[in-house]
Amino acid sequence: MSFADLGLLPELLRAVEETGYTTPTPIQQQAIPVVLSGRDLLAAAQTGTGKTAGFTLPLLQRLSTQKPLHPGQRARIRALVLTPTRELAAQVGESVDTYGKYLGLSSMVMFGGVNINPQISRLRQRLDILVATPGRLLDHAGQKTIDLGGVELLVLDEADRMLDMGFIRDIRRVLALLPKQRQNLLFSATFAAEIRDLARGLLNDPAEVSV
Ligand code: AMP
Repeated sequence: MSFADLGLLPELLRAVEETGYTTPTPIQQQAIPVVLSGRDLLAAAQTGTGKTAGFTLPLLQRLSTQKPLHPGQRARIRALVLTPTRELAAQVGESVDTYGKYLGLSSMVMFGGVNINPQISRLRQRLDILVATPGRLLDHAGQKTIDLGGVELLVLDEADRMLDMGFIRDIRRVLALLPKQRQNLLFSATFAAEIRDLARGLLNDPAEVSV
């Protein structure tokens, strides 16, 4: 099995090739076709399995090949990736840049503990993909400096860590700000009861993959 067998765009294959990866990991083999098909996904995968490319590659492809599901007067954020920590947000943002370098989509990484004003300026410009920690995202929502009405693809990365860190209420607040019609991907290392609860409310007939 190669990346080309997964049905990825030439622009993505070229970027993957430049990273030096030759074979998709098991989570990539299972998750990429599901996400490309537009289905919701519940994925059990730890850090180190290649899960980031497993959602980033097909996310980039969906945004490049599908018309915006919720178009607005101005271009809107179409994909939102929530992460528990700023380090993980930065890593996911780097993957988006690396794999998306030939696609012309724009992205931003947002987390707290830094000045909010540059983020507000950036949010006024075109932005396709936002990678964020929940707290700062809610700060922007409260100040009405962000429009989440165009989000058609949501990723919860390391959902178990988000719950462990006490982010469940923040996550639910963010979910309430998103359009109902969207694709949802939930990645978690473990499936404790709270993750199952969250998944039940969030995911619509999900494919389940586990590595
Ligand atoms: P992740 O689980 O997403 O944190 O990825 C773990 C590490 O695996 C990262 O350093 C990636 O660069 C690397 N990686 C991801 N996919 C592949 C692949 N198909 N072949 C080799 N390395 C990969």
